[in-house]
Formats: sequence, C-alpha cells, structure tokens
Amino acid sequence: MELQQKMAMILERLGYSDWEVHWTPDTKMLDCGRRGEIMKDDKLMLIYDLTEERAHGTFCHELGELALYPMLRPLYRIIDLQRKALEDLAYRAKEHYLDEALPNLLAVLSELKAEK
Ligand SMILES: [Zn+2]
Repeated sequence: MELQQKMAMILERLGYSDWEVHWTPDTKMLDCGRRGEIMKDDKLMLIYDLTEERAHGTFCHELGELALYPMLRPLYRIIDLQRKALEDLAYRAKEHYLDEALPNLLAVLSELKAEK
C-alpha cells in the first residue's frame, strides 16, 4: 500500500476521518526547516519530506501535534488573553501620559522656568 494511502487510513483509525493528508515532497519547505505542517482550519496535513522513511517520521510527529492540540489550545488562549490585557494596560498608560501626565509635567516645568 502506498504511504499516502496508509497515512490516510491511520488518520481515519485514530478518529481524524475528516482530515486529509498529502505527501507533497517540497525542497523549498525543507530548506526552510519545515518537514510538515497541519492546517487546522482546512483539516489538512502536509508532509514535505523527499523519502518515504522521512515522510513516515514526519507523519508520526504531526500525529503527535494533532493529539496535543486540545491540551495546548487552552494554554495558547491564556497566553493570548494575557498579551491582550498587557497591551491594553500599556495603551492606557500611554494615553494617560500623553493626555494628563505630560501636560502637567510641561506646565510645572514652565512654572519653574518663570520663577527663576
Ligand atoms: Zn512540530
């Protein structure tokens, strides 16, 4: 049986029957250090290795990624929410500085200068 077919069968047996796997050897992707990837929105797994043996190894790696995703997703979400919260804090601090703190500072400085 061809590797591509075998991989599709394994995906199906593991409960990913709505997923597709494509073995598309791609030296450009390999040069960038990518042996494979999963596109969650399209439910598509791509394997870029040139040889069957390497492609099989990458397939196993990507299967691991699929299995880990439900566990990692909440962590990614937390990190993203924290990033947004910090971004919001920084934004508000900057706005406060520009609208209030900076004008106050300039006013005090010019008062001091006038007193000399
Ligand atoms: Zn990986």
